[in-house]
Amino acid sequence: MTTRPAFPDPVTDSAVLDEQSTARLDALYERLTSLRKVSIGYPCNHRFDFAPLYRFMEFAVNNLGDPFSGSNFRMNTHDFEREVIMTFARLTGIGSEDCWGYVTNGGTEGNMYGLYLAREIYPDGIVYFSEDTHYSVSKILRLQHTRNIMIRSGHTGEMDYRDLEESIRIHRDVPPIVFANAGTTMTGAIDRLDRIREVLERQCTPNAYIHVDAAFSGMILPFVDDPPPWHFGDGADSISISGHKMIGSPLPCGVAMVRKTHMERISRSVEYVGALDTTISGSRNAITPLMLWYALRLHGDDGFRDLVGESFQKAAYAEKALNEIGVKAWRNPYSVTVVFPRPPKAIMDKWVLAGSGDIAHLIALPGVSWDTLEEFIDDMQRETEKTA
Ligand SMILES: *Cc1c(COP(=O)(O)O)cnc(C)c1O
Repeated sequence: MTTRPAFPDPVTDSAVLDEQSTARLDALYERLTSLRKVSIGYPCNHRFDFAPLYRFMEFAVNNLGDPFSGSNFRMNTHDFEREVIMTFARLTGIGSEDCWGYVTNGGTEGNMYGLYLAREIYPDGIVYFSEDTHYSVSKILRLQHTRNIMIRSGHTGEMDYRDLEESIRIHRDVPPIVFANAGTTMTGAIDRLDRIREVLERQCTPNAYIHVDAAFSGMILPFVDDPPPWHFGDGADSISISGHKMIGSPLPCGVAMVRKTHMERISRSVEYVGALDTTISGSRNAITPLMLWYALRLHGDDGFRDLVGESFQKAAYAEKALNEIGVKAWRNPYSVTVVFPRPPKAIMDKWVLAGSGDIAHLIALPGVSWDTLEEFIDDMQRETEKTA
């Protein structure tokens, strides 16, 4: 019989970080605390409290595999992940029987998934996407080696449907894969699915696929009255939504939502993990599904309607206040993104703002306080007076 080695298991509990390293962490904490106050330019909600979930950080959990097929690795949160997907199914106009999805590490992965399915279904399809599309999409297209054509967009950031129609008309022998935005990154513009489908119908292209990038607005549109057509009920084949944006989370996350029949065309069983290999990553975060589940349960539809309503109030306030001080701010309908001419350097240095060309924007998320908005507008007023 084998005898056990005589030394004990390493004791990690008593290990203490040295003083210098501890100081580094303290400094980081300080830095993030002050940056949070001036972060108004990116769509990441800072207002959340996941303290009740901290205890799950002690487990080496991993959600590898298809959340709906079961897996040999049972230290997972697949049951919570499934509930998250089913909640999003309800919010995106698809029956739970017809839908499949999983929790991703962000909007980019969900877009990659949609474009991957589209390419598997129509291997020689062409992807049409507007010039206002998120920068990650051209990278995904290069990665997947998919033919693609960039479509012009109007000054609000919405796709130019005439340019779309013209491009599809020239390539009528190839199935179109339309990449639509429900909330563009810079201006929050929405590419309307009814207009896109009209184009597809006029050009007689029954073999078509529509993916919707709803990274940010996917958690806004379900909670406004009469949103423009954007989801499965309006003809989408797949939708990507980020979890760390409108909902807010310390760990980037999102959901890839697809019509189940599309996913079934690519699924492949893998014996080693005893699961269907339907996701892009192998090992997957098991904490983020828990966070999304928690936030969805905590707020419920009514809570999110209030949070979204609060965002619209703040956006309207900022837009109006900026115009009153002579800054030409504007907003797309159904958007909490306030767009204005790129402010002077002093403002860009102090505030964490996103700029693109000659425009910049602030995003009136629930985590941006009224005081913060006021301070920003005061700063803007001082700077405009200086340059006037
Ligand atoms: C943020 C964003 C993305 C990328 O999402 P990540 O969660 O950062 O990967 C894609 N599209 C749009 C419109 C976005 O706003």
